[in-house]
Amino acid sequence: MDIAALKADLAGIKVEDNPAIVQQKSRDFYWYSPVLKAQLEHVTADLVVSPKTESELISVLKACYRLGIPVTPRGTGTGNYGQAMPLSGGVVLSLADMNEIRVIAPGRVVTGPGAVISEIDKAARAHSAQELRIHPSTYHTASIGGFIAGGSGGVGSINWGGLRDFGNIIRLRVVTMEEEPRILELTGEDLHKVTHAYGTNGIISEVEMPLTAAYDWVDVIVGFDTFMDAARYGNALGLQDGLLTKLISPIAAPAPFTYFKRHQKFFRDGQSICLVTVAPHSLDAFLAFTRRWGAEIVFNAVTETDLKGLPPNFELSWNHTTLRALRVDPAITYLQVLYPFPHQIERIEKIHALIGDEMIGHLEFVRFDGNVTCFGLPMIRYTTEERLEEIIRLHEENGCPIFNPHRYTLEEGGMKQTDEIQLAFKREADPKGLLNPGKMIAWENPAYDYKSGKLFLFKGLQQAG
Ligand SMILES: Cc1cc2nc3c(=O)[nH]c(=O)nc-3n(C[C@H](O)[C@H](O)[C@H](O)COP(=O)(O)OP(=O)(O)OC[C@H]3O[C@@H](n4cnc5c(N)ncnc54)[C@H](O)[C@@H]3O)c2cc1C
Repeated sequence: MDIAALKADLAGIKVEDNPAIVQQKSRDFYWYSPVLKAQLEHVTADLVVSPKTESELISVLKACYRLGIPVTPRGTGTGNYGQAMPLSGGVVLSLADMNEIRVIAPGRVVTGPGAVISEIDKAARAHSAQELRIHPSTYHTASIGGFIAGGSGGVGSINWGGLRDFGNIIRLRVVTMEEEPRILELTGEDLHKVTHAYGTNGIISEVEMPLTAAYDWVDVIVGFDTFMDAARYGNALGLQDGLLTKLISPIAAPAPFTYFKRHQKFFRDGQSICLVTVAPHSLDAFLAFTRRWGAEIVFNAVTETDLKGLPPNFELSWNHTTLRALRVDPAITYLQVLYPFPHQIERIEKIHALIGDEMIGHLEFVRFDGNVTCFGLPMIRYTTEERLEEIIRLHEENGCPIFNPHRYTLEEGGMKQTDEIQLAFKREADPKGLLNPGKMIAWENPAYDYKSGKLFLFKGLQQAG
């Protein structure tokens, strides 16, 4: 790789070649997985390039194309699967400086890809009491472009479903990786070409997202004697048509008392909980519903007098639950599970009984294809890779599909099949295969058999040392 020639080509554009900083910007939250930690620890780029405008971005892509240098896009690097890690070195393309908020109008916002999600909400609230429909629990750090290219859903998904659902992204502007990069405006069906494609087939240079009404959301935590009580309550709450909630997250003991240190005084040891975030105008009705369940309110942000130092509920939810567990017990890892409607409750009960204390339950209720069901992000007391594989197999044999967070490829972390639309778009938009190499199996090894059960090993993965 002729990095010197690249630097000369990029005169005037911000680059960083200090090896310590380059290595830091070559990482994401891959270390949540002991498997990925071992595989990817050594991965680093040669250069970080940070365009400020779309025309600078085009110059970078053009130069890298000419010199055959791989380019791995990065928002703010909060992804979990080594998504933003440059497996074959080359350039990490930081989009963080393309963060302008350009248009806020009724029902929509237009921004650069690097805009931080909470900054978008801050601007939309100030402008017209609006906010994004869905955000990851990394609200305060993640970029909107990274969320679209690498995330799936999160806080708000109980009302709006996920990013894959029609209508949750309005438009994306995408730059291709060709001799003369093209700028494409994607809407409707075409959005699927690049959403959740890890930046393997185009660089998002502008996003247009739908907005909804913003409220002063209220955090409440409900306590239960057992995890299954919390799960049944969460399911019933999700089905309440008249209550507006933004988060419903049952979490099993011992996690709340042991891992949520700042909230510990609100919990009993051995208590399971359900985190709820509810609109202020729904609060009284929500409390009445909860009373009917005979459930105990252990925390209510409206009546609590001292909120100082307490994180919001969403920073206890989704993958923040795992983060807090990891801070206390570094041997914890996690899985991502779908409990398909309408059998979610019986499957949760069955799989947790089967695996026992080795797995600590954590659910996130969502709308999924129009029904209310839940994902699981259970915490696992990690022992060996073989046992982790066994736990995954037990889930799948019991009708609970796993989105494996211990793999760096799109397919192994997703539906274990080729996404023909994304593959076809890569052929068109990245003919030399320079964008985020190693992440799309269908491109690297079309003959790979997803049913083989074998780990995909990317031949271009940088050698350690
Ligand atoms: C504690 C914690 C909690 C989390 N909670 C959630 C959650 O609730 N929901 C959820 O969906 N995810 C969650 N995540 C994962 C991650 O934080 C989000 O998906 C986040 O939105 C990613 O944004 P980012 O800017 O950090 O992206 P990055 O990690 O920088 O990038 C993510 C992927 O997108 C690609 N990419 C980035 N920018 C572009 C671009 N402009 N064009 C093309 N490709 C691009 C990268 O190459 C990479 O493959 C969580 C992670 C952690 C560590």
